[in-house]
Amino acid sequence: MKTELEKFFELDEDEQKRIFTSYQSKKAIKRQYEFIQSELNERMIELKVLQEECQHPMATRFNRSDTGNWDRSQDSYWVECVCLDCGKRWHEDQ
Ligand SMILES: [Zn+2]
Repeated sequence: MKTELEKFFELDEDEQKRIFTSYQSKKAIKRQYEFIQSELNERMIELKVLQEECQHPMATRFNRSDTGNWDRSQDSYWVECVCLDCGKRWHEDQ
């Protein structure tokens, strides 16, 4: 039974290069992805801090409901709030 590495070295040089290049580009994409993810996480923390600072003076409120359930005790009502200044969205009880 041949190992993957033994099979790789039996391929012709062009095929080896092709596989190596696609492996390198896969690694580069993964590295770039991880970099972007960590940037996003940091930016999300900055956004949370900004949203904590905002007083949401002009927040828009929408009355929402989930009614008509067979079991009426499952019916619920809430207010969906959106602040267009900082982008924060949250729910409040009606
Ligand atoms: Zn706000």
